[in-house]
Amino acid sequence: AKSLGKDRYQLYSEELTVDARHNLSIEQDLRQALQSDQFVLHYQPQYRLDNQKLCGFEALVRWHHPEKGLIGPDKFIPVAEETQLIVPLGWQILDKVFSRVANWIRTGVDVPMMAINISPQQLLQADFIQRLNLMVDQYGLARNLFELEVTESMIMQDPDFVIQQLQRLRLSGYNLALDDFGTGFSSLDRIKYLPLNRIKIDKSFTRDIGRNPKDEAVIISAIALGRSLGVEVLAEGVETAAQCEFLREHACESAQGYLFGRPVPPEVITQEVKGALG
Ligand code: C2E
Ligand code: CA
Ligand code: CA
Ligand code: CA
Repeated sequence: AKSLGKDRYQLYSEELTVDARHNLSIEQDLRQALQSDQFVLHYQPQYRLDNQKLCGFEALVRWHHPEKGLIGPDKFIPVAEETQLIVPLGWQILDKVFSRVANWIRTGVDVPMMAINISPQQLLQADFIQRLNLMVDQYGLARNLFELEVTESMIMQDPDFVIQQLQRLRLSGYNLALDDFGTGFSSLDRIKYLPLNRIKIDKSFTRDIGRNPKDEAVIISAIALGRSLGVEVLAEGVETAAQCEFLREHACESAQGYLFGRPVPPEVITQEVKGALG
């Protein structure tokens, strides 16, 4: 049994080495990318379901790699989180979004609300809120223009401190959304302590509307939970008119997904809004 254990260990450590080497090369690339400004943000619209009006955008980061082209966040955010590079990357993202929003406001583009994803390591920085407020102030922006998206898994890292940070953010004037709702098991009991404005139903539930009654049941109860807690509910990943109709019938407040628009570079948003104005 001992030798089997040893073999297993070696097999495992070899796999780990390959994996670690791969991540190490991404890490080095990420450091380079941070220095040479290779990150860009795309923006995806959000719509109210009762009146079909645009009610916000979500900022989603992409990596403009000099050789590999545009890389999606699923490929590098996890490595950035493991290596703590998410902290400097997070500041770059916030700076880019604030600068863009300030520019839009200056040029008459209406921004109802801007949602930004926040990683646990960012929130766990003791000076996070102080620096955030300073940045928003320096751009002359109102804090309530922004919605910070956090996940259930984040809350598990250090529940007391995270809840305290969320309360401070709320008191500072930011809106808070719970992202990927329904994908963690822990939340129902804790959710009442979170100072949320919004719950975002994960796209894995939206996808199965009309196909799986259990997913529909989760959506219906999330909407009911939102109503009883006094927070809005947004459904992510809406791709079909039938999904949209189901959500509207069940009085879900807002939605986001390919049906309404994909994440696009800021110039596209600017053009669309200017086009709509004449
Ligand atoms: P998320 O926050 O849940 O973002 C929603 C994801 O769903 C985005 O993927 C978006 O492009 C995609 N999506 C939107 N509509 C639809 C749809 O109708 N159908 C389908 N199948 N997908 C749709 P994306 O941009 O690849 O981002 C993946 C994840 O990376 C995000 O998931 C978020 O967790 C993370 N992420 C993105 N940007 C940032 C950021 O600036 N900071 C941090 N910390 N994480 C980010
Ligand atoms: Ca999100
Ligand atoms: Ca999400
Ligand atoms: Ca996600």
